[in-house]
This record gives sequence, structure tokens and C-alpha cells, in this order.
Amino acid sequence: MKIKAPRGTKDILPEEARRWQYAEARFRDVCHRYGYGEIRVPTFESTDLFERGVGDSTDIVRKEMYTFEDKGGRSMTLRPEGTAGVVRAYVEQGMNSLPSPVRLFYDLNMFRYEKMQKGRYREFAQFGCEIFGSDSALADAEILSLLDTFFTSVGLRERRLELGSIGCPACRPRFLEALRAYYEPKLDRVCEDCRDRFEKNPLRMLDCKQPQCQEDAERAPSQIDFLCDECEAHFALVRQALDTLGIDYHINPRMVRGLDYYTRTVFEFVSTHVGSQGALCGGGRYDGLVEELGGGQVPAIGFAMGVERLLLEMEAQHVQPDLTFDPDLFIVSFPDTTVAALHLRQNLIRDGFIVETDVMDRSFRAQMKAADRANARYLLVLGADELKKSKATLRRMDTGEETELQLSDLSQTLRSE
Ligand code: AMP
Repeated sequence: MKIKAPRGTKDILPEEARRWQYAEARFRDVCHRYGYGEIRVPTFESTDLFERGVGDSTDIVRKEMYTFEDKGGRSMTLRPEGTAGVVRAYVEQGMNSLPSPVRLFYDLNMFRYEKMQKGRYREFAQFGCEIFGSDSALADAEILSLLDTFFTSVGLRERRLELGSIGCPACRPRFLEALRAYYEPKLDRVCEDCRDRFEKNPLRMLDCKQPQCQEDAERAPSQIDFLCDECEAHFALVRQALDTLGIDYHINPRMVRGLDYYTRTVFEFVSTHVGSQGALCGGGRYDGLVEELGGGQVPAIGFAMGVERLLLEMEAQHVQPDLTFDPDLFIVSFPDTTVAALHLRQNLIRDGFIVETDVMDRSFRAQMKAADRANARYLLVLGADELKKSKATLRRMDTGEETELQLSDLSQTLRSE
């Protein structure tokens, strides 16, 4: 029986991997320019971390984690998201004693046991950023500015930023009260999960995917109407900064995020193409999480972006980055010159060129065909005679133009083109 890749996972073959590399390179570049340093955290962590850090009333923790017992009897979980691990590392590595703000970014794969849909996988990748130590709306604006710059740099022109505020521990109780009062008379018609959520965390009811529950959620009270003065002022400053930065946004008074730890600013960049799985990226402020994980009162804000969704969106918007690695040169060899061809190729590659040659003992004709297929810019036929004289003929594949030259001048000639 053939063994297949597990459901919800995928193989990324070289052609697609180049599109990944392109997006990754752009993301790293933008992060570095904004002063963010990369962090790489473990693929699995103590299950407790996610229960505490993501929230045990969230779908992620309740239904989607890949949890296992290791051989030492400890409960471990493959990371379903990046922030909890990054915050754990921030605290454990004493980064809270570094000068603030501490700016970190990551590019990591995540694991969630989810239903399969387009743009939804069980192993997927996220780009993310976190900025620690600033409670100012300027940090929120910086994160949104970084994202906007990144989308521009990969050529995604159509994008929609939805912005909301979900208040803080001071103003949330009043909102939760209003929410409970709203839902109380509807409890007999909401889904079973929502009845459970009503007890544990009614905020989660706003996020339910059931059609009836969604209808109710649309008419539910909005946190924005219950913000305390500080939260209101913070939200106003974020909007003001975005106006000055020239970043368009839409206020979404009902934004709920799938994680428990958010406070104040929450946002999503949504796609105009990817359909129901439209969220490209989500994030927000989490002023209580560092303390929750034992690191003192450190405000923070961050986001995570789905890389698969980003690539789908780039395709939908016909973004066509130049991703070719076509050879500069294809060296055709004969049985008595194959190793010399390999040597010449090694030198040219070390000089910075992309060079291909035969490693299959193919016939002259088959090599010529391969050179054509490889879309090489130049062709060089290396016979024993040429080798003896250290001379050869370089042919430009598109025009057919031929130049005789010393092999020692090859690099220079290729470079001057
Ligand atoms: P979240 O961590 O749930 O806020 O998700 C942040 C982003 O990650 C989403 O906007 C998606 O782009 C992406 N994402 C979340 N879950 C999945 C998944 N199962 N498969 C692919 N991308 C995902």
C-alpha cells in the first residue's frame, strides 16, 4: 500500500517553493527595515502554555490542538499559533529586562486539527510580528504600517483593513453583562457550543460559525459602545495615526478574534478574493498576556499572517514576481570532457552564475534538447579539442550569435552581458 501525506498537509515542490521564498524574503526584508529581529521557538511546547496563553475556551484549545504525551509522560502540544511561544521565550530568556520596545518577528509552521477547506490546512505557515513594552497607540500604528508596507512590497493592491477595539479588563465586564442580557432569552435557539460559551466566555458566541448563531451575533451589542475613556482615547489615536500614514481602514464594531488574550485594538486584513476563508492576517493588542505567563506587566501587540492564504491572494491578484532561476549557461560535454565540464561549471558557479551540465552521460543530441528545455541563455560545447586549446565557442541561444573565446574569459563575457 502506498503511503500518502496526512490529510491537511501538503508537499511544496520547487516551483511553488520559489513563490514561498519570494514572500519570505520580502517579509524578512520589511521586518528588518522596521527594526524587528527574528525569533525561532520550539515546534512543541507544554500543553499548559497554550491552555493558559491562547485560552481554554477557544476553539483552538478545545478542539484543534495536536496534543500528545511524550515518553516521559508530559503533555506536549504542537504549536497552533506563534504568540504564546514567543511570549514564553520573551519571559524565559529575560527579554523583559532589555530596553523597550522589543521587536520580534517569526516565520513558523503551525498545527491545528481543522476541517479541510480551501486555504485551511492542518499544517500551515504564519508570518508574525510582536512588539513588547509599549502601551502607546503608536505601537499599534507601527504594526499596521509594517503590514501595509509588506502588502505593498509583494504587490497586493487590493486589501481591506478592518479595525476594532475590544476594550480592556476595566470596561469588558459591562459589555459582557450586556451580552449576557442579550443572549439570555435566545439560549434555547443557539447551538450547543454557544450554550457552553454563554457560561464560559460569551465573547466567543460572537464568533460562532452556525448560521442561526451568526444572525444573532450580527445584532448583538458591540464592544465599541462600551469602551472606557482610556480605551476610547487609545482607539481614537490609532485611527488618527492611520489617517496620517495614509492607511485606509474600516471600523468593524463586531470584530471578534479567535484567541482569548486580546485587549483594545484588534484588526484583520481581509482578502477580496479568497472567499469565506478571507482573513489574510489577524492581530491585536494583548496587554495582559505577558503577565499571565509570569513576565510582569508588559503591554504588547502583534499579528499573524497565513502564508498559504497570502500566496493564494497573490495568485488571485495576478501578482507575478520574477522567480526564474534559468541557467546563464549550459555546458554540453562528451565522454572525454564530462569531468572537465563539471570543473568549469564549479568555477563559474563560484563566480556567481547559474550553470548546468550533463550528469547522466547523455548523447550530444539529448544534451542539446536539455539545454533548450532549461531555457539557458548561453550554450557552450566543450569537446576535447576545445579543452586542449582552452578555447570554445559561446552561443547565444535566442539570437544564435556565436563568439569564440578563451575559457579563462568566460566569466567576464557572461558578466558583461
Ligand atoms: P489566527 O492565528 O487564527 O488569528 O490566524 C491568523 C491567520 O492565519 C489567518 O488570518 C489565516 O490567514 C491563517 N490561518 C489560520 N488558520 C489556518 C489554517 N488552518 N490554514 C491556513 N491558514 C490559517
